[in-house]
Amino acid sequence: MSTKILQQLTAMRRYFESGITKPYTFRKQQLLALKQAVVAHENDIYSALYADLKKSKEECWVTENGFFLAELNDTLSKLRLWMEPEAASTNLLNLPSSSRILREPLGVVLAIGPWNYPFQLLFTPLLGAIAAGNCAVLKPSEFAPATAVVMQAIIESVFPQEYILYVPGDGSAVIPEMMNNFSFDHVFYTGSTAVGRIIYKMAAERLVPVTLELGGKSPCIVEADANIAIAAKRIAMTKFSNAGQMCVAPDYVLVHSSKKEALVAALKNKIGQFFGNRPEESDNYGKLINEKQFNRVVNYLSQGNIIHGGRYNKETLFIEPTLLDTIQTNAGIMKDEIFGPVLPIISFNTPEEAKAIIAQHPNPLAFYVFTSSNEKEKQWLDAVPSGGACVNNASWHLTNPSLPFGGRGFSGMGAYHGKYSFDTFSHKKAVMKTPTWFDPALKYPPFKGKLGIFKWIIR
Ligand code: NAD
Repeated sequence: MSTKILQQLTAMRRYFESGITKPYTFRKQQLLALKQAVVAHENDIYSALYADLKKSKEECWVTENGFFLAELNDTLSKLRLWMEPEAASTNLLNLPSSSRILREPLGVVLAIGPWNYPFQLLFTPLLGAIAAGNCAVLKPSEFAPATAVVMQAIIESVFPQEYILYVPGDGSAVIPEMMNNFSFDHVFYTGSTAVGRIIYKMAAERLVPVTLELGGKSPCIVEADANIAIAAKRIAMTKFSNAGQMCVAPDYVLVHSSKKEALVAALKNKIGQFFGNRPEESDNYGKLINEKQFNRVVNYLSQGNIIHGGRYNKETLFIEPTLLDTIQTNAGIMKDEIFGPVLPIISFNTPEEAKAIIAQHPNPLAFYVFTSSNEKEKQWLDAVPSGGACVNNASWHLTNPSLPFGGRGFSGMGAYHGKYSFDTFSHKKAVMKTPTWFDPALKYPPFKGKLGIFKWIIR
């Protein structure tokens, strides 16, 4: 390991141990300074996200910098309350002691970001880390280079390196270099399941706790009784936002066979309304991040029957919003997370048929069901374990900071957003305080003959 980075991490540990990051006023000042810098760099953020992913300013605001600022404002308004000791009840055995839970900062944490929402997915965990009183190392994705440069400028304009350290570079080199030589107090990783596994293994070596925000195939059910016009509008909006490169995008649609034709017609209509006949010229439509991802997604176009879209341009990394049906059995498109603007439409006749397809990829990050029946809603939510879910909607659950956002199983572990971020980056310290004025002999040896009263107290 380069001695420079080890020295930097050691300096962070000392900075944390000095206690400077713990008081409420310090945390609040840092959040305000970060907010100011993000606001000041607003245009740089737009330019960078346009260069990396062709995102419009409006899309950036909703999913990147505006999303982040809304969470930051929410955190600022609630932080003092979150930091308050939490009262807990005390059981009969321990009376008249009192009990409380303190939120203690973890220490020096590492946050690792992906490229698809490169700003929001690195800065939102940072917000939680600062709010909870930690020092943080930030590792951006190397595949969104313009955004990585702006984020570095923001971080370095606001924070000393012993508090928040920005470490760009090739993840497969710099992350093992840090994790194998320094014991972080938590690692917060967002990215693919394959790399998540590598991170988890490295963390296990040093018993470092992790939050893993991974991907997967999020299914979308459209029942026979669904409002088809609304379903099509909401599915198309989410699936083709950021050219499908969204962890919670509906990966594939399972539609009741009686409504397939209607849904396909409505989806085509909505795609036309949202992005026009030439989406490559639309301000509302993005591009694939790089040639590697482009080639991977183009490959899926031949794994089914194209019922809409299908055009692409390697030079501009454009792939048209595409609907596929008659998917080849065992095709890669039904094995891997698609992570691009290609939507397989599969029809089902019985819930069992649909469940059998979903069961091939258990515990998705998100699950969507469109239905007008409360009973079906309940049956589907019960039937499909998933990180999160929406009924008659897709992906918007993650924009509510009152809901925990995270996966389960292959889609990850742990959760964040709002208070859940604060809790993720805090240790819950159990404290019991016992008065000295009452100390019954019952609690002390000799115990002989006390079994009856123990059985009465501990029951
Ligand atoms: P990725 O796994 O390629 O990279 C993520 C991060 O890991 C990057 O910072 C990268 O530098 C680092 N990395 C890459 N290889 C590494 C290695 N060998 N060792 C250590 N670190 C390494 O992920 P990605 O392609 O940037 O993101 C796409 C995936 O992320 C999709 O699967 C998507 O579903 C998932 N994702 C999940 C969420 C969520 O919130 N759950 C959000 C966005 C993306």
